[in-house]
Amino acid sequence: MKFVSTKGEAEPVSFAQAALRGLAPDGGLYIPGAWPSFPGSFWDSIKTKSLQEISYAMARPFIDELSDNALHNIINDAINFEAPLVQLDEKRYVLELFHGPTLAFKDFGARFMARAFAALREQSEQDLVIIAATSGDTGSAVAQGFLGVEGIKVCLLYPAGKVSHIQEQQLTTAGQNVTALEVDGTFDDCQRMVKQAFSDSSLNEQLLLSSANSINIARLVPQMFYYGYALAQLRGNSAPILCVPSGNFGNLTAGLMAAKLGMPAAGFIAATNANDIVPEYLETGSFNPRDSKQTISNAMDVGRPSNFERMHYLFNGNHHKMEKTIWGTSFSDDETRAALKKVYEKTDYVMDPHTAVAHLAVEEYRETANGYFGEQKDTPFVMLSTAHPAKFGDVIEPVIGEEVEIPERLAVCLEKNKKSVALENDYSVLKKWLLDNYKGAL
Ligand SMILES: *Cc1c(COP(=O)(O)O)cnc(C)c1O
Repeated sequence: MKFVSTKGEAEPVSFAQAALRGLAPDGGLYIPGAWPSFPGSFWDSIKTKSLQEISYAMARPFIDELSDNALHNIINDAINFEAPLVQLDEKRYVLELFHGPTLAFKDFGARFMARAFAALREQSEQDLVIIAATSGDTGSAVAQGFLGVEGIKVCLLYPAGKVSHIQEQQLTTAGQNVTALEVDGTFDDCQRMVKQAFSDSSLNEQLLLSSANSINIARLVPQMFYYGYALAQLRGNSAPILCVPSGNFGNLTAGLMAAKLGMPAAGFIAATNANDIVPEYLETGSFNPRDSKQTISNAMDVGRPSNFERMHYLFNGNHHKMEKTIWGTSFSDDETRAALKKVYEKTDYVMDPHTAVAHLAVEEYRETANGYFGEQKDTPFVMLSTAHPAKFGDVIEPVIGEEVEIPERLAVCLEKNKKSVALENDYSVLKKWLLDNYKGAL
């Protein structure tokens, strides 16, 4: 399998090359150049398979460089936690993607990617420097994923004062090969600087850089796995409508990729907070990336969603086709708080603010757009739950009036001392820092 660039001006490359490069040399994002279609019998038989078996089957066609055995090992080691589908009522389900070590769905992408990188870089002598911008959860998942992996250094850029206390503790306490850079700016500034680093040829001559953001295809491949597993757990219900709380749109793009493999889906709902660039595009056909706004679902505070480029590519740039497959909507913080409270009071289920945005989107769809996808009467709705509520206790507790229990693996990092490097919002400062700190490692 070769991967092509969304901009179409770079050579097709293998999975290893696409993963280790991150961004294609023409500035585009890598995407599979072909889509093996899994037969109906695969999707029918999926209900008897484990998450790991489904993951293996979905990953296998994409990664030529890894032997069957190596791929099995990576998956079994990376995806060593569950992704249960919890039924809320007759038609609504929550796919809990937060049972990994950092309590967010990003563990799927980051853990798989770290292990794939470690296996794929064996040929290379040079240390690999992973740089990633984070709006909160990516950083901790990447830090945990790569922690202690030999030959790999990790550098995380996060916006100072714009991540929650727990998120900051998670990304600044890993230590070892992981450094957190606290940038005086927004997430979009962090992302811009990371992109600039990748397109800076003098820096790339001196360091072997790679990205761990969802611009990296090695994160999107493992994010297809849980879509397959959601289907397995629905056990033969009709094809679901999948509702994805979205920011940079990696998660939703992975769902579209799974659909390209033939996964039955009636449609996708793109749920955002006030950063409604994609819902606006779906409605109007015009794409207006802009600065992000800060909200209580901060991992979705993205004003320039990178993966839109992949979505656009998958629909051949055709707005109408995209709009037939994806329905979008956005919500304010007040609506999100009210939804958290309502769900808790009705069902005792505690949602994190990102999941609450997805919940609102399903409600709105059912009230105003029922039948949009031509779905059946019994079509189930699956909301992807992207984070454990304990990560957002400071938002949730005042709303529901109860304490949110903190799992042990989170409690541990809350006790450690924060360690970060303050960085100006200026690319030349980042470049100097990277060279000063990592060039000696060659
Ligand atoms: C990253 C994140 C999102 C957004 O996912 P994208 O793939 O960037 O759209 C949503 N919720 C949580 C909790 C996240 O960490």
